[in-house]
Amino acid sequence: RSQMVQIRTGSAALDRVLGGGIETGSITEVYGEFRTGKTQLCHSLAVICQLPVDMGGAEGKCLWIDTEGTFRPERLLAIASRFNMTGEDVLENVAVARSYNSEHMYQLAMTAGAMMSESRYALVIVDCATAQFRTEYTGRGELAARQMALAKFLRLLHNLCNEFGVAIVITNQVVASVDGGAGMYADPKKPVGGNIIAHMSTTRLYMKKGKAESRVCKVQQSPSLPEAEATFSITQQGIED
Ligand code: ATP
Ligand code: MG
Repeated sequence: RSQMVQIRTGSAALDRVLGGGIETGSITEVYGEFRTGKTQLCHSLAVICQLPVDMGGAEGKCLWIDTEGTFRPERLLAIASRFNMTGEDVLENVAVARSYNSEHMYQLAMTAGAMMSESRYALVIVDCATAQFRTEYTGRGELAARQMALAKFLRLLHNLCNEFGVAIVITNQVVASVDGGAGMYADPKKPVGGNIIAHMSTTRLYMKKGKAESRVCKVQQSPSLPEAEATFSITQQGIED
């Protein structure tokens, strides 16, 4: 494990429960209710991944697939200043692609491979990975088709992390769970995407609101980490303790 690069989050408490930070070479899913900090965490990672390894980064660029129009360059600039990085360089190292539908998401992930052969990428963000599938495949009868399309997209992401060793961070929404939280998820809400997304994500993180303005991140699934929680806050400079 010592050779595996991990990308720090900006919160020491969160890094601790992650065993150092977000893993490169695998898919990490961040799910939770709205305004819990999923997109803010992505903004932090998009900056920190550019730092040298001994400063908690992975010395590479970030590709950001934005499905909801929530990418904000000014957030990157604020976070960059915390690490004394040049804002202009930080922005230049984040390739943002706005996706308009699930087919477009797939096309963007296809072109990502070519981009990664040409220069060093450390991180791919898909924010949000499931929303467009959910809005396109609505009726009950379309669930199987939706899951198949989602699996196809996630397999493509999987290939990217295998081939290029990048960290992949996908965000996901929650829906009311049928059993009200009695089953696998100790909460009345469960992530979208069922088994497909559960199997394709190596690490699953659950974000929720904590006391006052704090946020809590729980390691919900991991091959190597205990199910611990970390409390952090969202600030102008990203994710902090
Ligand atoms: P959604 O499911 O709607 O996409 P999310 O989990 O992605 O939600 P974020 O957009 O990451 O949520 O987080 C929103 C929270 O971050 C809000 O509570 C907002 O007040 C806080 N926030 C955003 N920008 C700043 C900032 N510059 N300083 C402090 N807090 C901020
Ligand atoms: Mg968001």
